[in-house]
Amino acid sequence: MAVNLEADSKLMRDNMHPATLNAGPVAKTARADRADVKVSYEFFPPKNEKMETALWDSIRKLELHNPDFVSVTYGAGGSTRERTHRTVSRMVQETNLRPAAHLTCVGSDVSEINEIANDYWDSGVRHIVALRGDPPEGIGRRYVPHAKGFAYGSDLVAGLKKVADFEVSVSAYPERHPESPSWDAELDNLKRKVDAGATRAITQFFFEAETFLRFQDRVQAAGIDIPIVPGLMLQPNFQGLKRMSDMCGVRVPEWYAFLFEGLNEDPETRNLLTSSLALELTASLFDAGVRHFHLYTLNRAGLAVSVSRILGRHSLKRIKE
Ligand SMILES: Cc1cc2nc3c(=O)[nH]c(=O)nc-3n(C[C@H](O)[C@H](O)[C@H](O)COP(=O)(O)OP(=O)(O)OC[C@H]3O[C@@H](n4cnc5c(N)ncnc54)[C@H](O)[C@@H]3O)c2cc1C
Repeated sequence: MAVNLEADSKLMRDNMHPATLNAGPVAKTARADRADVKVSYEFFPPKNEKMETALWDSIRKLELHNPDFVSVTYGAGGSTRERTHRTVSRMVQETNLRPAAHLTCVGSDVSEINEIANDYWDSGVRHIVALRGDPPEGIGRRYVPHAKGFAYGSDLVAGLKKVADFEVSVSAYPERHPESPSWDAELDNLKRKVDAGATRAITQFFFEAETFLRFQDRVQAAGIDIPIVPGLMLQPNFQGLKRMSDMCGVRVPEWYAFLFEGLNEDPETRNLLTSSLALELTASLFDAGVRHFHLYTLNRAGLAVSVSRILGRHSLKRIKE
């Protein structure tokens, strides 16, 4: 029997969008025409068997939402080299996902990086998120490039492009990288990475849509024309989030901290607040024209599924069931 895909997808759209006259921002996003929306999911490599089972449970759920790509982080100083490789290779072998492996300059000389990159290419990985990384002594310490390594993100991008024709994504910082002396230096650095071959930048997390949108304006004004994809952090543990923000130079707005005040022993309320704030941020960015969202999943599917759904990344399989 011939399948009428157009009628089928119209039926699904109608089913997904019951008429709502007075929809709020989140519901409006869920009702918008979103054929061009992309999501990508970031994971970290698991440390033990229990974490590995939880990660793969999340991957299986999120896979159904057909992400543009998924990425796997690389531990500080290369500490997860094998685990990152194993996770990404398993994604290539066992799923239809398009995985990207994060890779940093720290702790490896050029020949080691080339070897890692060649291994990725040989195992079918075609996308690398290329980063400088932080000093092995910890974020905030003085960064000293490896004597025989790549010094900065832009050097790594150029090096990877010599190994093979990888798709390369890089980082970007809506509030500037903490070591960056000025906006000019920040944008020059991003431009160097683009000139070296990067075709997408994924941002550090942030709390307010305006922070991202102002940054996007600066990038465009500097003549940089690659997509800038907002990274959305889905971390409900406020204390952990605050610590991470302080370390990475991300400003936590007063109103945000106030909302979580006194909730240390109340994970349920923290989860609910985190969900509604993530959905609201997503809706505001969507309303401003953003069409690709990178979700820091922390290896948990729940909230990433909710954000994906309001962006129209329903699991088609589930809808049909
Ligand atoms: C999306 C995303 C994913 C990340 N994933 C990981 C991960 O998997 N593993 C990990 O360890 N870390 C990760 N990080 C963190 C990242 O490694 C740190 O933020 C690190 O401090 C900077 O890396 P970068 O690639 O942004 O650096 P770069 O783009 O190289 O810039 C770092 C700093 O150096 C300056 N700089 C650049 N070039 C020069 C130059 N030639 N001379 C002088 N100064 C220069 C820049 O202005 C900037 O201040 C990630 C960050 C983001 C945003």
